[in-house]
Amino acid sequence: MASLKGLHLEAHIMGEEVRALPDHPLVAPSVRAVAATFDCAHDDESRSLFRVRSSLSGEEINRFTHLHQSKEDLITKVLMQRYCGNVTCCCFQRCVGLDAANAVFSVTYECDQEHGTGYHRRFREYWARVQSEDLVVDGAMTDPKGDRGKRPRDQADPDLYLRVVARQSDGVVVRGAKLHQTGMLNSHEIIVMPTISMRQGEEDWAICFALPTNTKGIRYVYGRQASDTRKLEDPNLDVGNVRFGGQEVMTVFEDVFVPEKRIFLNGEVDESGKLVERFAAYHRQSYGGCKVGVGDVLIGATALIARMNGVEGASHIRDKLVEMIHLNETMFSAGIACSALGHQTLAGNYEIDMLLANVCKLSVTRFPYELARLATDIAGGLLGTMPSAKDLEDPVTGPYIRKYLAAAEGVQVTDRMKVLRLIENLVAGAGAVGYLIESMHGAGPPAAQRIMIGRQADLEGKINLAKRLLGIP
Ligand code: SF4
Ligand code: FE
Repeated sequence: MASLKGLHLEAHIMGEEVRALPDHPLVAPSVRAVAATFDCAHDDESRSLFRVRSSLSGEEINRFTHLHQSKEDLITKVLMQRYCGNVTCCCFQRCVGLDAANAVFSVTYECDQEHGTGYHRRFREYWARVQSEDLVVDGAMTDPKGDRGKRPRDQADPDLYLRVVARQSDGVVVRGAKLHQTGMLNSHEIIVMPTISMRQGEEDWAICFALPTNTKGIRYVYGRQASDTRKLEDPNLDVGNVRFGGQEVMTVFEDVFVPEKRIFLNGEVDESGKLVERFAAYHRQSYGGCKVGVGDVLIGATALIARMNGVEGASHIRDKLVEMIHLNETMFSAGIACSALGHQTLAGNYEIDMLLANVCKLSVTRFPYELARLATDIAGGLLGTMPSAKDLEDPVTGPYIRKYLAAAEGVQVTDRMKVLRLIENLVAGAGAVGYLIESMHGAGPPAAQRIMIGRQADLEGKINLAKRLLGIP
């Protein structure tokens, strides 16, 4: 937290320039969420899950900076993310850089083999420092993209895809923006990657590099979340998830200088698509851990509100809770499966099974919505009509609320309100940004996964199976 304060990022939040970011009431919950990735490496219960030996230095490091060395590592990553989702019940922001690093590690190796470049050693040196200093790194991929029907150079404004605008002997100058940057304001470093597979003639857009987040010329604009201003209220019962929260940011690069030693791809257009695919697949695996961890808390809160409402024993409630568990564990299964069927890359680190990672994420674009629907069903209409914490404290209205929101015997009205606010937070409030919208669009929307599933599934091979069985030549 202290290191984040020292960054002094140039950020705007709701029309104001804010310098003391980590203390800002809209940002603070997301700082605590990313801090949980450090705390968990020290808590007795979780430290072994969060610690691993570095393949670069041999030192013990946080698994959030690890280059996966085995299928076991891939699986443990998903377990760690589920655990973190259990603790924070939101996006804890630190997986993006981890997924970017594992993709850049193997792509730079292959690029050097094919093009005689020297990116891989550079990246190893860079990442060894990230590991030893235990830094938070964001991965930035999604460009604004302007007219979706046009290539980068055909846009009315070519900056709609981040690009190199000047080349110097000691580095390059870049201009553009990256959208939807999860946890950007809580990161020490940023790895920038191309957003699509670039073609001949698009060399200026095929650029990958890393910079400190407080580099001159980088600006941040905070993204709003539904009911976010509840975080400014006192009392805080209406917030739902008082301790933790996610964060999404627009990041602008206004002619930013990138020194040579921090560049990991520069004009090798044929490598850009590989980088996009690998990063996306690692991050699609990640969702099989983090959203499942949040789902665990939602299922728990839903079962708890059923108990508080006195309907825990009803058969249709039990059936709906089982349905929620089934959906949640189905996503988890895909996250584990794509890890268990992972393979070693030429650079030596491990990559997930790309087909199953995409299947995992495609399920994540659907199942949390169904979980939210079932939670809304079980929680009841009070989810959308409950009076505020201020009314609860009011001497006139408070006694009425305590009297008429009483439910099963022995249940505190304020406890019941807390549980309802948590469910509301996840299905319709600020937490729905992380649990629903991010599940849809994070690591790419469903159409992107469908394209990859179509490509990876070997449909011709399946046709041949049917032909062989039937004796058709
Ligand atoms: Fe990690 Fe999930 Fe947040 Fe992505 S959405 S950074 S996988 S917690
Ligand atoms: Fe995300």
